[in-house]
Amino acid sequence: MLKQANSDLLDYWVTATLTKNQKRGGHPMDFEDRYLQCSDCGTTFIFSAEEQELFASRGYTNDPKRCPSCRQARKAQRYGNDSYGYSPRRKMFPAVCAQCGKDCEVPFQPREGRPVYCSDCYNATKANR
Ligand SMILES: [Zn+2]
Ligand SMILES: [Zn+2]
Repeated sequence: MLKQANSDLLDYWVTATLTKNQKRGGHPMDFEDRYLQCSDCGTTFIFSAEEQELFASRGYTNDPKRCPSCRQARKAQRYGNDSYGYSPRRKMFPAVCAQCGKDCEVPFQPREGRPVYCSDCYNATKANR
């Protein structure tokens, strides 16, 4: 049999990869890149083997529903209100101080029923305690 070494190798590699995909699809520790569709924007994104491994190591059993950029956006949204304030590009929200009525900016989304203080009044409140 006459074969070219290169294409033979490629054939072998492709066959081996396909076989591996088919045979070991259900093996928990053998991850393959997968394509998923984002439930937010509909983009097809790669759920890479590394990410799957990371997910599994953290105990997540569900596939991600969103593409990386939508995940980022949601993350920023979720943490935007309080603990995300350490980010250098944190978002400031306009507010009116409940104490002196001055316009001010706060690093969290002002909520109804929760008084917001400007930094001066906030510091004064803290100092009084
Ligand atoms: Zn998306
Ligand atoms: Zn004030």
